[in-house]
Amino acid sequence: MAKRRSTIASTTITAEKDLPTRFEDLGLSNRALAAVSDMGYEAPTPVQAASIPAVLAGTDVMAAAQTGTGKTAAFLLPTLDRLGHARHGQGPLMLVLTPTRELAAQIEEVANAICARTGHTATVLVGGVSYEPQRAALRKGCDLVVATPGRLIDLINSGDCNLSQVETLVLDEADRMLDMGFLPDMRRIVSKTPSSRQTLLFSATLSDDVLDNTKSLVNNPVRIEIAHKGTAAETIDQYVLPISHEAKNDALIEILHREGAERVIVFVRGKHRADAVCRRLRKAGIECAPIHGNRNQNQRASALRRFADGEVGVLVATDILARGIDIPNVSYVVNLDVPSDAEDYIHRIGRTGRAGEYGWALTFATPEEEFDLRDIERLMGKNIPVYPRAQGIPLGEKPLVLDPNRTPADRLPGKKERKKLVDERREERMARTAEIVASRSQRRAQPQRGAKPGRPTAESTIPPEKPKAGRRHSKAASRQRTQAKRPEAAGRAGRPQGRRHPGDHGGMPRR
Ligand code: AMP
Repeated sequence: MAKRRSTIASTTITAEKDLPTRFEDLGLSNRALAAVSDMGYEAPTPVQAASIPAVLAGTDVMAAAQTGTGKTAAFLLPTLDRLGHARHGQGPLMLVLTPTRELAAQIEEVANAICARTGHTATVLVGGVSYEPQRAALRKGCDLVVATPGRLIDLINSGDCNLSQVETLVLDEADRMLDMGFLPDMRRIVSKTPSSRQTLLFSATLSDDVLDNTKSLVNNPVRIEIAHKGTAAETIDQYVLPISHEAKNDALIEILHREGAERVIVFVRGKHRADAVCRRLRKAGIECAPIHGNRNQNQRASALRRFADGEVGVLVATDILARGIDIPNVSYVVNLDVPSDAEDYIHRIGRTGRAGEYGWALTFATPEEEFDLRDIERLMGKNIPVYPRAQGIPLGEKPLVLDPNRTPADRLPGKKERKKLVDERREERMARTAEIVASRSQRRAQPQRGAKPGRPTAESTIPPEKPKAGRRHSKAASRQRTQAKRPEAAGRAGRPQGRRHPGDHGGMPRR
């Protein structure tokens, strides 16, 4: 590929004022306007009003906009409006590269609505499903390909997909692709497209990292930034629940009972944690489904469908779901774990309060998560108020104590000091847990006659953090322990002892 790409920001659009307020004034053709009307859009969102004329003019675009702002239509409407049609067995003429299968499915949905008016054909190339139908679609020829990087690279390597005719390239959620380690794949894919192409880069944020890594892919782009990167939609009320680690599960169940367990997304750090939380919720009689990177495409699609249909009320998700996925009417979001990347918080809570609806979000924060919470407040430039209905919710022995006089501008401990403080707090918690486990074992060793298993308490939900080396159990002792276990622990007896604490599992790869 000839080197052509370089400078950034010939024009920057940042303000909403002065943007056109009617789709008819953006330069779209009648068939694109018909698609707009099919989709039920009445007025362009700011990112659409700013991007559509620039894309129609043929310039490269780098756009950052708040999550849920209508960016999919912002790039699909003008591109499909000016795209030619591939001959039989040829194409694609346009490629949209996106980080996850869910985003690809969502882009496909909008693309299908527009293609119904423009007569283009769209093909989705994602992992987790069989290759053959994708190969067949490519052999037939298509105008638009929507792909995730891994599967696209496979199909390029096997000679099934040829990008030499691509006139328009869209890099969707570019920052997410970088976070997920797709930069080498992105570069390889882009190098297979002609240097004369038009490139549109859409990203939740245009951080220095994104700009540095992608500036060679765009050519003198218009830069569009509508909202500050730490801006959450105004229609979302946010609260924090200061809590201790071991009380999180019971508190979540209590919150779901109080606030309703329908159309709720619970975000956690880590795939195994998502599964573990789902098991807890089911035992408490709450219908839920996990969604994370270890679930295959069908499982993920089925979870989303069941959630959308109201069959399951609660989705328990890792950050894979935080960006871009559009599920209407999410009543509220719970961050059971504070995300370690403050921007992920904005994306997570952006799942509720979409397209002007009201939504709210509750973030559980433990002493170990205090600094991650403060990072979020710093990013947003405001404090998150404490959840006002916390009375009666089990918060555990040592919940986070938040300074009511804190400000987002406060200096926070540096990386090293922060790690030391967090490690100390974690050790303190583990020592507390060990004490509780020890006293529990003692109690079990002397069971009281006629004692019945009671309602679970925060204490009773603490799993042992480490296997007790060399501990051997007689059958009788084992029977005794099983009897003394809380009801929802029944059936676990055959499981290996000493699983790691749920919160200790890793999450999405980070920069
Ligand atoms: P996106 O940012 O592309 O994920 O879109 C977020 C949501 O906004 C989706 O439900 C879109 O259908 C909806 N949407 C996009 N553009 C408009 C518009 N101009 N008017 C109303 N809703 C829109």
